[in-house]
Amino acid sequence: MDFQFTEEQQQLRRSIREFAEGEIAPHVMEWDETSHFPLEIMPKLAEMGLLGVIFPEQYGGAGLGYMEYVIAIEELSRVDGSVGIIVAAHTSLCSNHIFKFGSEAQKQKYLVPLAQGKKIGAWSLTEPEAGSDAGGTRTAAAQDGDSWVINGAKTFTTNGHYADICVAMAVTDKSKNSHGISAFIVEKGTPGFRPGKKENKLGLRASDTSEMILNDCRVPRENLLGAEGEGFIGSLKILDGGRISIAALGLGMAQGALDAAVKYAKQRKQFGQPISEFQAIQFKLADMATQVEAARLLVYQAAWLADGGAQRFTRESSMAKLFASEVAVQVANECVQIHGGYGFTKDYPAEKFYRDVKLCTIGEGTSEIQKLVIARQLLGKK
Ligand SMILES: Cc1cc2nc3c(=O)[nH]c(=O)nc-3n(C[C@H](O)[C@H](O)[C@H](O)COP(=O)(O)OP(=O)(O)OC[C@H]3O[C@@H](n4cnc5c(N)ncnc54)[C@H](O)[C@@H]3O)c2cc1C
Repeated sequence: MDFQFTEEQQQLRRSIREFAEGEIAPHVMEWDETSHFPLEIMPKLAEMGLLGVIFPEQYGGAGLGYMEYVIAIEELSRVDGSVGIIVAAHTSLCSNHIFKFGSEAQKQKYLVPLAQGKKIGAWSLTEPEAGSDAGGTRTAAAQDGDSWVINGAKTFTTNGHYADICVAMAVTDKSKNSHGISAFIVEKGTPGFRPGKKENKLGLRASDTSEMILNDCRVPRENLLGAEGEGFIGSLKILDGGRISIAALGLGMAQGALDAAVKYAKQRKQFGQPISEFQAIQFKLADMATQVEAARLLVYQAAWLADGGAQRFTRESSMAKLFASEVAVQVANECVQIHGGYGFTKDYPAEKFYRDVKLCTIGEGTSEIQKLVIARQLLGKK
């Protein structure tokens, strides 16, 4: 085993950290307070190759792997989880679905501008009545001549209002249950397709989370993504990678909360000394750091498996997602505690980490669903 990052990976981390601290950190609280989607940093993310890290250069990507992708999401999320989730949904959900299941023509038309960062992507699986039970999708698509006509409503779509390209799942054959769900590429501006209500969220407030309305939305026949009836099964494969994203998101925010807690503990004086001199605070910091490091190992193991070309890494990505998410919640909680009353105010980053990390135990499969996935793998069930 080799726990050493390459020089290129270390350099990538340094450059993203510098960018995140220099160009994201000064705006984080304002973006959060006003729920401002940071469109202005998208060109810079694109220029750095961060909107297509895992895709080959021939499709406009950076030609790197999941290891580099995890570094990117981790470093962005260490400063702002909103930016982390924007990049994650764009890359590992929308663009990756097109990369993994798209025809050559679809890759050229849609993946190339997505990976180059010229267009923003979204991915719509969840519906009001189909969350954890995503196989219960109700949005339906019917063939009509050379088109598919899609009707229904999606919910909780990250990047919904800002996406140029959306991959949406819809039922094409109700009799086949989850094997009757197909994936479609829907472009912004298609008649009958529009983002609906923007959620007013607890955390990750600079990211956009929206309903997507499909009302007699007609897309050309060639916008079917992958084989008919394989959209749901394909989505499960996409979520294997997606869960590594959320694990990296949690890891990055946990690291950010730990760094903030260490900094504050050294500054804050009580009883005539920095609170970092109290063993109770030291034990908290030691526990936080150990948990973060354990999460990091699981997240990088999952990325390593993904890069190694493993057919499925479902169990490992679910374990990484489950553990890193729960660790992030615990670490952010202790970060607030170490800040005392100031952790309850907006003068320090602790309260934002505390709010933002909660998404990780919910998005792309709740912690409970991750446990079901892991148990199924252990028990050899499908
Ligand atoms: C900020 C944000 C961004 C998101 N982005 C996207 C996106 O880009 N695209 C997308 O498609 N979706 C997205 N989602 C949706 C997300 O994946 C769902 O919210 C999640 O899968 C849970 O579904 P639900 O909210 O309907 O909860 P429910 O499924 O209703 O779950 C409610 C509770 O019941 C538990 N539960 C449900 N079933 C079981 C079971 N079988 N056993 C035990 N417990 C169970 C859950 O764990 C949870 O605690 C996003 C959500 C949020 C909040």
